[in-house]
Amino acid sequence: MKILAQSQLPTEFGLFTQYAIENLGEENLPHIVLANLEGINPRQAINLRIHSECFTGDVLHSIKCDCRAQLTFAQKYIQEHLGLIIYLRQEGRGIGLTNKIKAYHLQDQGLDTIEANKALGLEVDDRNYSIVGEILAHFDIKKINLISNNPLKIKALEEMGIKIIDRIPTNISYPENYQYLQTKKNKMGHLLDL
Ligand SMILES: [Zn+2]
Repeated sequence: MKILAQSQLPTEFGLFTQYAIENLGEENLPHIVLANLEGINPRQAINLRIHSECFTGDVLHSIKCDCRAQLTFAQKYIQEHLGLIIYLRQEGRGIGLTNKIKAYHLQDQGLDTIEANKALGLEVDDRNYSIVGEILAHFDIKKINLISNNPLKIKALEEMGIKIIDRIPTNISYPENYQYLQTKKNKMGHLLDL
């Protein structure tokens, strides 16, 4: 794991330190770590959000998914309670932006997120969290409180030997993403209380 650059980043939620992490995957943009660890007790569990890039949600404010709402929630939470956001460049659950837009087109015709990916011959969730273990090791983090509803992330972290002390749920639904969240809950086992 290589840190390519770092700086302060003032945001509308407060000040973070941002780190550009070398990305050895297909995307050439760096992964980003947003940290607010000032004054943290090294023995306490660190609040952690692992966020996979979602251009349509994070940048264009799409409400087809809950990505931006979850990112905003995590930024606010970590400003208040300290912690780390790891922003990974794996758009569309790892299928890339063009394929995600193709899948959206199929969803416009009534398929759900899983059926659309399958119709395109793509994985339902092709994300990889191996860099997360290296980033956490760099920051000497072994115990976390995970801001997530995703059982695959919990499993991936546990397999890396990271201890999950607590899970902070993010239940953010609107009429436009209700069906999307239902699919996450019913077909992907997400821990959502809808
Ligand atoms: Zn999204």
